[in-house]
Amino acid sequence: MLENKIALVTGASRGIGRAIAVSLGEAGAYVIVNYAGSEDKAQETLALIREKGGDGEIFKCDIADENECSEMCKAVLDKHGKVDILVNNAGITRDKLVMAMSDKDFMDVINTNLLGAFHMIRNLSRNFLKLKGGRIINIASVSGVLGNAGQANYSSSKAGIIGLTKSVAREFAGKSVCVNAVAPGFIQTDMTDAMPQSVKDAAIETIPMKKMGQPEDIAATVKFLASEDAKYITGQVICVDGGMAI
Ligand code: NAP
Repeated sequence: MLENKIALVTGASRGIGRAIAVSLGEAGAYVIVNYAGSEDKAQETLALIREKGGDGEIFKCDIADENECSEMCKAVLDKHGKVDILVNNAGITRDKLVMAMSDKDFMDVINTNLLGAFHMIRNLSRNFLKLKGGRIINIASVSGVLGNAGQANYSSSKAGIIGLTKSVAREFAGKSVCVNAVAPGFIQTDMTDAMPQSVKDAAIETIPMKKMGQPEDIAATVKFLASEDAKYITGQVICVDGGMAI
């Protein structure tokens, strides 16, 4: 289904990014597995892709750093000639109530989650406009749709991702490049494992389906958006959240 496609997934060493990378690799895409620091985990993702019959490579890059980003994009384009599918997945949290949140807490999250995605899109924009038919899929969050106490920085970054998605979708639509966002709800990964059990239990109570999602739930939606079947969908935000944002 995605044979001869080159996919680049940011933050693919763990969690949702790993599930997306494995799913795109299994579907036939050659996957660039980006990571910030966890080389061993990125190698594990690549091994999982190969177990499923796919292939790819790992690439270390801090997407918040424009120089590192442009070097990664240039190296990938020099080697492979194109990127068909960009998944902006890398993200961090620094949760705090707003009264205790420093500028650094706020900007660290904005710089990775929002500026990082912008860097990737800008560095690959010529590539996409030449391709005529590529896909950009940004991982937002229900927190960016609804807001969330303790996440002023994170919610702002994810609401920003939604605005970025809609603006770039309008800019690239004439070249048949589809740009969409997937907004996960509460998904079981290292990010949510770090939360106290009482906070997790309270969060699960707010989910109409009364359970957390799995990284594979997000990967299935991303795989669909990356496919030919989704060629007339652009500028959308698809919540994959067990009903949280109803
Ligand atoms: P995770 O398990 O904490 O994994 C985060 C990934 O992002 C890792 O691969 C990490 O790489 C990478 N990363 C972090 N900073 C980076 C940077 N500056 N440059 C490149 N890579 C970087 O997170 P997750 O739960 O899978 O979340 C993935 C995405 O889904 C995020 O955008 C998150 O906001 C979003 N999301 C998650 C949930 C949820 O419930 N889990 C809900 C809504 C949205 P290293 O391993 O090298 O550190």
